[in-house]
Amino acid sequence: MSQKVDRIVVVGGGSAGWMTAAVLASGLKGRATVELVEAEEVGIIGVGEATLPSIRNYNQSLGIDEAEFLRATHGSFKLGIRFRDWLEVGQDYFHTFGPLGNLSGSQALWGQYRRTQQDGPLGLQCVPTVMAMKGRFTLPDEQSQFRYAYHFDAVLYVAFLRKLAMQRGARHTPGHIVDVVRRADGGVAALQLADGRRIEGDLFIDCSGFRSLLLGGALAEPFVDFSHWLPVDAAWACPCERSGEEIPPYTTATALEGGWAWRIPLQNRTGHGHVFASRFVDVDRAREQLLARLDGKPLAEPRLLRFTTGHRQRFWVHNVVAIGLSSGFLEPLESTSIYLIQDGIGRLMAALLAGRPLNEGDRAQFNAGSTRRFERTRDFIIQHYCLSRRRDSELWRHVSSMPLPETLAFKLELWRRFGVLHEYDEECADANSWLAIYAGMDSWPEREDPVVAEIPRERALQALQGRGRAIEASVERMPLHHQLLQQVLGQATP
Ligand SMILES: Cc1cc2nc3c(=O)[nH]c(=O)nc-3n(C[C@H](O)[C@H](O)[C@H](O)COP(=O)(O)OP(=O)(O)OC[C@H]3O[C@@H](n4cnc5c(N)ncnc54)[C@H](O)[C@@H]3O)c2cc1C
Repeated sequence: MSQKVDRIVVVGGGSAGWMTAAVLASGLKGRATVELVEAEEVGIIGVGEATLPSIRNYNQSLGIDEAEFLRATHGSFKLGIRFRDWLEVGQDYFHTFGPLGNLSGSQALWGQYRRTQQDGPLGLQCVPTVMAMKGRFTLPDEQSQFRYAYHFDAVLYVAFLRKLAMQRGARHTPGHIVDVVRRADGGVAALQLADGRRIEGDLFIDCSGFRSLLLGGALAEPFVDFSHWLPVDAAWACPCERSGEEIPPYTTATALEGGWAWRIPLQNRTGHGHVFASRFVDVDRAREQLLARLDGKPLAEPRLLRFTTGHRQRFWVHNVVAIGLSSGFLEPLESTSIYLIQDGIGRLMAALLAGRPLNEGDRAQFNAGSTRRFERTRDFIIQHYCLSRRRDSELWRHVSSMPLPETLAFKLELWRRFGVLHEYDEECADANSWLAIYAGMDSWPEREDPVVAEIPRERALQALQGRGRAIEASVERMPLHHQLLQQVLGQATP
């Protein structure tokens, strides 16, 4: 059934709700009203402090000034993630947002690297990895071959977006939804609030978090469970005082017995958390493991969050579109949730701006695209686990022996047998990112490329060393991350 949209109701005021409301209010001015309903007493999840570079596109599309945003959210710059103890205990590597030389063709840099086999980690050939190792940061110019993201206080980001969305015309309606009034065709007609008010709309965006009030609740859309591949199902989160002056320009993810621990540096504090599989490690033990790792005084009691990895079978059903945790959640290892929110908003806006009533084709396209995006992201996250050589606990034995999704098995096979970095459509991570994980996990094709094998070993080594020295010298000239950050924070807002 085709549908005209004059009134849009966003349910929930977490990152998903306000990110959506800000874009809709800005982009649909004069075409549709945007009203956001939230139960302030329920609160938001309030974690989600690390992002991918696409967050910058989001902010820029709304005309957000970077310095103002960083000041408001206590943010810092993120070049990527440092993975510790993932391959085996004591080993670490970086996945940063930058190229690892040429990736294809007979001179592929990783092929030359393999040929020399003794030139330090492949990451020394990657500008942002060397920047991260040295704690340095500079804003990229047009010639730069790296991208960056942010760490920020998720609660402050929500407050920042709320102000912006309301300035752009979004209406904020505090209220607790107690019932959902349905239309004859199965869609949603209105929301019933606890105080008796009724909120009517043409299109409802479900951003109600793990509760999934409309899509999972009222419409009972089934859940596609990924927990056999991504078994973590809980997290302890705890903010801490910052130690020392320096702020690493990267997230740290350290593999532990039953999961992994994050460390996210902000201007004023460090976010710590332990994501774990409760069937492999006891909840209390997981809490102790987190507390033992804190590098500063805790600023709050650790908070326990529970979840199931996976997504709703469909994301858009009748006149309900789910965005954020209400649509699904893959664990936070590669900071992909806010990215998936952005992706959902982008698809929705494209349908709304098509200039015709919404129809079944829009829903089908949205659902197919979102499903693919979740599956690609799932595969990328599993790549981090399944290549591990750890066998020291049940979790690691499980992830190294579990059957893999077909799409991932195919990719891994192409790499292992032919050295091909295959990319599907709707990838969340490009070939550079996949290569960074393969290299970090010491996973290489079984055969040498016959053309690379023609390059004399000495010549390959010289080329790599020359490139490595040039990268190091350029990075040495950059300021330390906290110095650059101070400079940016001091800039006046235009
Ligand atoms: C452990 C953990 C770590 C994470 N780390 C990252 C990360 O580093 N990077 C990243 O990108 N993402 C991360 N995420 C995901 C990120 O937190 C979420 O994607 C993001 O915060 C969006 O949440 P949300 O808005 O969907 O839900 P929520 O923040 O839970 O908001 C739900 C909203 O719905 C409202 N609501 C609920 N019930 C009702 C009702 N009955 N009536 C009215 N309103 C109601 C609530 O009041 C609230 O406003 C992490 C998640 C977890 C669990």
